[in-house]
Amino acid sequence: MNIIENYKNIPFTYVIDSWKPGKNIILIGATHGNEPSGYLSNLQLLEDFQNKSLTLNEGKLIIVTKANYKAFEKNERCIDIDLNRVISKDFIGKKWFEYERAKEIMTLLDESDYLLDLHSTSGKSEPFLFSEEYCLDIAKNLGVSDIVVGWADIWEKSILTDNEGYMHANGKTAFTLEAGSHDNKAWKEVCYKASLNFLSYFNNIDKKYIQKSEKLFMVKLNDVYIAQSDTVKYSKKNIENFDTFDKNSEIFSDGDFVMKSDKDLVVVMPTLEENIKKWDEVCFFWEKIEQ
Ligand SMILES: [Zn+2]
Repeated sequence: MNIIENYKNIPFTYVIDSWKPGKNIILIGATHGNEPSGYLSNLQLLEDFQNKSLTLNEGKLIIVTKANYKAFEKNERCIDIDLNRVISKDFIGKKWFEYERAKEIMTLLDESDYLLDLHSTSGKSEPFLFSEEYCLDIAKNLGVSDIVVGWADIWEKSILTDNEGYMHANGKTAFTLEAGSHDNKAWKEVCYKASLNFLSYFNNIDKKYIQKSEKLFMVKLNDVYIAQSDTVKYSKKNIENFDTFDKNSEIFSDGDFVMKSDKDLVVVMPTLEENIKKWDEVCFFWEKIEQ
């Protein structure tokens, strides 16, 4: 096993090679510069390999500690444009920092079989994982209790120009972890645990590192609601990610219109009502699915 720094002269990129056949895994931290959880978790993992408390038994592991390292220094989401919206060959040749960085990240994604992209949320939220239905078996083994599926289905595939979307577009498997909200100190641990599970699942590291989650809560994307006025009011005060609404209960009002749930629904990523203007996304509706 050896560790290469600044792999292919790509900053903040490390490759750990077992020199044995196996899966090629990539872990990305700080795609958004104000989300340090993935960075901290990746540093910890790197240290584990450096001091040999962890051994890579099979395949190759690429660790990008800080994807948007310039935004990270400023503790901002991005410099010129959201890095996680420009992961597409269509943007090659454009001059902004994130376009240049996207090109480097795509080189790394092209060499990888499986991606775990480590994020966190600005709004209050428990940790959750984005997965697609076909790779749920992997998602269930990452130690994250809340799993949302079907995200890619409501968008045109062509506008999914994020790390995960790029992998899916190239026939590969990828997951995005939202490790909890900014005030959650358990952030880094959530990323670290999921990363160990991810590597164990594919036999890159010993199976003893697996820490499965006991209880799973899975939801499938049902619909998205777009505001038709500037005055949206939620029925619940301080609405939170993953709040549930029973059938026929009022979720919000939008001008004169009252939105009621036609079945038991889960609200994911609600926009704060003071920030909602006409044509903005209000929230996504998800249905609970069986494990
Ligand atoms: Zn993010």
